[in-house]
Amino acid sequence: MRVAIIGAGPAGLSLAYFLKRSGIEAEVFESLNRPGLKPCAWGLITGIEDLVPLRKESIISEIKGFRIYLNGKLVFDVRGDRKLGYIIDKPRFLEDIASEVEVRYNSHVIERGGEYRLQDGSPLKGYDRVIEATGHYSLGKEHAIPAIQYITDYQQDPEIVEFYFYSGLLGYAWVFPDRNGAKIGIGGWATVDALKELVKGVLKGRVLSFHGAKVADVGIIEERLKQGNYIGEALGTVLPLTGEGIRPSILSAWAMAEAIKEGKPFEKVFKSMKIYSAIQYQAKIIKGAKEGKIWTGGLSRVLTSSDPDLVFKIAIGEFSKLDLLKLVGRALYDVLFR
Ligand SMILES: Cc1cc2nc3c(=O)[nH]c(=O)nc-3n(C[C@H](O)[C@H](O)[C@H](O)COP(=O)(O)OP(=O)(O)OC[C@H]3O[C@@H](n4cnc5c(N)ncnc54)[C@H](O)[C@@H]3O)c2cc1C
Repeated sequence: MRVAIIGAGPAGLSLAYFLKRSGIEAEVFESLNRPGLKPCAWGLITGIEDLVPLRKESIISEIKGFRIYLNGKLVFDVRGDRKLGYIIDKPRFLEDIASEVEVRYNSHVIERGGEYRLQDGSPLKGYDRVIEATGHYSLGKEHAIPAIQYITDYQQDPEIVEFYFYSGLLGYAWVFPDRNGAKIGIGGWATVDALKELVKGVLKGRVLSFHGAKVADVGIIEERLKQGNYIGEALGTVLPLTGEGIRPSILSAWAMAEAIKEGKPFEKVFKSMKIYSAIQYQAKIIKGAKEGKIWTGGLSRVLTSSDPDLVFKIAIGEFSKLDLLKLVGRALYDVLFR
């Protein structure tokens, strides 16, 4: 069995890594000349350490707490000894995985009518499977929201991440620590101009650079799941309430490797994982807000007025139906999920 994987992001590289460990040959094709160039805030929740190598050199800091603001007012300030996640050096983390697998850089792949070709027109030949891990690049506007980010020299507490919610925005702004300063960004169902205006209120320090990208925000794309050859953000594996995509992408790659190894349908394996239902529940909340079933301000208020532990569980997708019920209340639960 030989597998071609398109895209050297967390999803594509992890898949190659998992397959190689199972003795299955895989080759990754990447448009760019190295991994990790896509705009990202580099936040990683704990939970994938046993799956892929996360060396201490790739960890910028360990996250021990978070602050949540609603319309500029601090509503949660949580700090403890428990490690909640990391700020990683994502390019370095990805390069580590890439060093263990076969990657062909500067190799943009084009798909037409089910045929895959490199930019010079040569077909991808000799592969039993082609898996697309192309991230947001292959998503339309209906599946993704804009997210923009400033890199500044502001000295953010290395153990604390901050989130800023607004009554008028389905989305949020963030201030994350970086190796030499902070990453300050915002994403949501709004125009880039509106996002730029809102984020001005949280910009701190001298701006060193600015970038942006789309981020999937509607949950799993069912047609692609059924097709069975997509993983990662190209499949929609981003937690819609938080924009967290690195860990879910790796988990989808794990599901694909299991499916290939065991000869099972990917859809079946992935649907049996907790991350699948977590993404889909969160997507329903976003959909409910977009359709006016929940007022955006009401949603931010629910998130910011509940028990912080519960909010954290919901945010990272480690929740049960009972947790959701506790968060949104019976009436809203019935409107959204029945
Ligand atoms: C501003 C911003 C901040 C974010 N912050 C966080 C965060 O802090 N934590 C978090 O968990 N998530 C964050 N995300 C989301 C996260 O970055 C992505 O969900 C995650 O990287 C998806 O991984 P992936 O492997 O599916 O896709 P990607 O990381 O997008 O990788 C896809 C790769 O495929 C390559 N590619 C695309 N098309 C082709 C082609 N045709 N041929 C060859 N190669 C191709 C691309 O060059 C790219 O390298 C953020 C997103 C944005 C926009």
